[in-house]
Amino acid sequence: MSEKIQFVERQQLKEKPDPKDLGFGEHFTDYMLSFQYDADKGWHDLKIVPYGSIEISPAAQALHYGQAVFEGLKAYKHDGEVDLFRPSQNFKRINNSLERLEMPKVDEELLLEGLKQLVDVERDWVPEGDGQSLYIRPFVFATEGVLGVRPAKSYQMLIILSPSGNYYGGESLTPTKIYVEDEYVRAVRGGVGFAKVAGNYAASLKSQTNAAEEGYDQVLWLDGVERKYIEEVGSMNIFFVENGKIVTPELNGSILPGITRKTVIELAQKLGYEVETRHVSIDELFEAYDKGELTEVFGTGTAAVISPVGKLKYEDREIVINNNETGEITQKLYDNYVGIQSGKLDDPEGWRVVVPRYE
Ligand SMILES: *Cc1c(COP(=O)(O)O)cnc(C)c1O
Repeated sequence: MSEKIQFVERQQLKEKPDPKDLGFGEHFTDYMLSFQYDADKGWHDLKIVPYGSIEISPAAQALHYGQAVFEGLKAYKHDGEVDLFRPSQNFKRINNSLERLEMPKVDEELLLEGLKQLVDVERDWVPEGDGQSLYIRPFVFATEGVLGVRPAKSYQMLIILSPSGNYYGGESLTPTKIYVEDEYVRAVRGGVGFAKVAGNYAASLKSQTNAAEEGYDQVLWLDGVERKYIEEVGSMNIFFVENGKIVTPELNGSILPGITRKTVIELAQKLGYEVETRHVSIDELFEAYDKGELTEVFGTGTAAVISPVGKLKYEDREIVINNNETGEITQKLYDNYVGIQSGKLDDPEGWRVVVPRYE
């Protein structure tokens, strides 16, 4: 087993929130993992420290030029153990994001070890209720205080933890209403759409507000050039069931390569479904709907896991999918996915990674 990393203990532990009222990303645990980068030292000072405010230079480059990336994953508790779900995928992806923003890459194995030690310290914070989990948010931002536009020479990485509730607030899946954005775009090929970059979300908020004003939950983005091909939803990748086949847009550089997307594709294939990854135009989708061939639509992402789509609005037309009910394939994928995550089903692929008990 690896060496224990430095641990700075806090004076007093916080009071834990009511497990019946967790929400998403509202409560934070007692500790966080901190890692520092300076050009002359490289990454250094990996340690577990009390969760709390940090001091930052008003000239920190992240605040001005947006050198900031993040990740999101979850830990689950079952049978007295705590598991992470495919955590190596997240550290691999954060390095792709860091590389794109000309930020220094991190040691994936060292950080996974650091995360395990952090979650071990915080295992009492991992909620156990149905659909509940400990949401894990690693992020890196430029801290150097100079206003010249160039890659910063110092960075901070933090991993913070938030006990979170069932995204749906209940047992069953509730279909969402989606607005197809035909004016603004999220990303273009050659840009930063494939990277989990903070600014991608800043660019999406105006559309999100517009959609919410019209009564829709989320935005579906079209490609940035022709505004014709389907890319993804706010923080989810998108899937369609057409003629019994599962179809999802292929990764093209402007779509975020979701780990839930990848896992759902692997799971669907194992369950015997045919999965196609290819260009899907919005016109094709509406034509398939008119022919009765579009039977299900769902989104995938760490926060919501698998989320059925009940309504889709594009220009002047709204279509209702599967009577605004969760489809059979969506439900089956959800049950299998959540079953593996929560330890109720076998995990032949080794997606669950047990957090060891360090003494
Ligand atoms: C994080 C994210 C997703 C989902 O990725 P997962 O790895 O499945 O959580 C999808 N789209 C965007 C834009 C994202 O930022």
